[in-house]
Amino acid sequence: MKDIEISENATLKPITKIAEKAGFTTDQIEPYGNYKAKINIYNSKSKLKEDGKLILVTSINPTPAGEGKSTISVGLGDALQSKTGSAMIALREPSLGPVMGMKGGATGGGYSQVVPMEDINLHFTGDMHALTSANNTLAALIDNHIQQGNELNIDPRTITWKRTLDINDRELRRVVIGLGGRTSGVPREDGFDITVASELMAILCLAENISDLKKRINSIVIGQTYDRKPIFVKDLDVGGAITALLKDAIKPNLVQTLEHTPALIHGGPFANIAHGCNSVIATKTALEHADYVVTEAGFGADLGAEKFLDIKTPVLRKTPDTIVIVATVRALKYNGGVLLKDLETENLLALEKGFVNLQRHINNMKQFGVPLVVAINRFTSDTDEEVEMLMKLTKEENVDAVEATVWKDGGQGAQELAEKVIENAAKESHFKRLYDNNDSLQNKIEIIVKNIYGGKNVEFSRKALNKIKQFKNNDWEHLPICVAKTQYSFSDDPKLLGAPHDFTIHVSDLNVKLGAGFIVVMTGNVLTMPGLPKKPAALNIDVDANGKISGVF
Ligand code: ADP
Repeated sequence: MKDIEISENATLKPITKIAEKAGFTTDQIEPYGNYKAKINIYNSKSKLKEDGKLILVTSINPTPAGEGKSTISVGLGDALQSKTGSAMIALREPSLGPVMGMKGGATGGGYSQVVPMEDINLHFTGDMHALTSANNTLAALIDNHIQQGNELNIDPRTITWKRTLDINDRELRRVVIGLGGRTSGVPREDGFDITVASELMAILCLAENISDLKKRINSIVIGQTYDRKPIFVKDLDVGGAITALLKDAIKPNLVQTLEHTPALIHGGPFANIAHGCNSVIATKTALEHADYVVTEAGFGADLGAEKFLDIKTPVLRKTPDTIVIVATVRALKYNGGVLLKDLETENLLALEKGFVNLQRHINNMKQFGVPLVVAINRFTSDTDEEVEMLMKLTKEENVDAVEATVWKDGGQGAQELAEKVIENAAKESHFKRLYDNNDSLQNKIEIIVKNIYGGKNVEFSRKALNKIKQFKNNDWEHLPICVAKTQYSFSDDPKLLGAPHDFTIHVSDLNVKLGAGFIVVMTGNVLTMPGLPKKPAALNIDVDANGKISGVF
């Protein structure tokens, strides 16, 4: 059965019942229909209990063969719920970019899904729209300031605040605005980013509360004056208005899994071009309500998990108690050179060859000092010999690998994984950050490239070097690094699979995100406004006379 059919055939419990069971009081719940609710953080009570254990789910580099981090996160959450009676899941909100484009939704798959999947994947509770509106309101206010006399002396050529849209639209990557004469604005070059790459999305996901959200919005740098001084949102005096547009978007969204485990789905920055984790508020809320919280960081562990550990945990003030690395036999065979069409045929040699990708991710995660386990997301075409070989190879790295069949069996398919996670989470973790924020920007970038990507060196463009100098002069050097890089490879070349060595990472540009609190480092040809593929997923999506959606996956 297709993911959407399983979701549509499921019997859901009223969201108020799920909320009540998770310990939320009636005045904390704002239902959006029967099966979705926002948690009113303005009515949050003093801390209910000690924080639960935090489980971070990450994976090998993504391939077209599929890895299944969300599927495993949901199944593991269900297994922990059935074992302990106190589990919650914290995930990112899907973006319409992948839903209409190539990857599909982000609600898990098979019998491990958060539901109602079509609502979550399409408009959900409107957070993406609120973010897009807030982002574009700020853009309009900046251009209006220039039109109305430009008191702040903004140099229009230096404006870094772009407009956004939550869909892949390559036509809008670079645009010229303000055409049409005196009454239609001041012409300048502009561009659109996808909403999930925007600084506002990152801010929403890192803010601790609405006051922090406002403070961060006020400190956003939007461009420079003609004499090259940074201009902040607070200079425009519009931080209050932008924050007001996000007063509901800041509240986490509660839904349930097919097995009725509570799941908070909130915020959705991409992990290749942004920091890749759901909101701090959602993770914190989950930790305060459950003994075990499963959360996911986007794409491979080189991107999402590194950023979770180096950018999110200092704000969360909690580090993971255990890390789960999701791997599939298929994706490793693909890394070992097998074509997509041949992945269903047993190939132990290719599996062994492609294992280097998982091996490097294991060694990378070991550097952070958190107990690890590998979850093998079993596909029906995997042979027993392949799964056994993957277990053996992982064991040789002194890490356990556990098979999970959650896609087919739901929570029942992750009983052993849940046991291992409980055992690991009880161990002492010796968390160690990868770099010291006080180190120079160049050194921090080099540490990530050498210790996580396995690269040999970093080449900075002249533009990047100028930015580094400028950021140092502005005293922004202490900020953590958020690398924008292809998700398909450890390198900045999407075609270099496996575990490449001796490569150079090409840094083309750096952008300060002072509100989010990090510096984005652009590498290779990564884009902050993706394009749609030749056959977008939108071609399969339909709705019938009863409003029933089909084709979302
Ligand atoms: P990720 O979170 O890593 O991007 P998802 O969990 O969203 O991956 O899964 C991507 C797709 O792969 C989904 O459509 C899901 O149904 C499918 N999938 C995941 N695991 C399996 C599996 N074991 N067998 C078959 N399909 C799977």
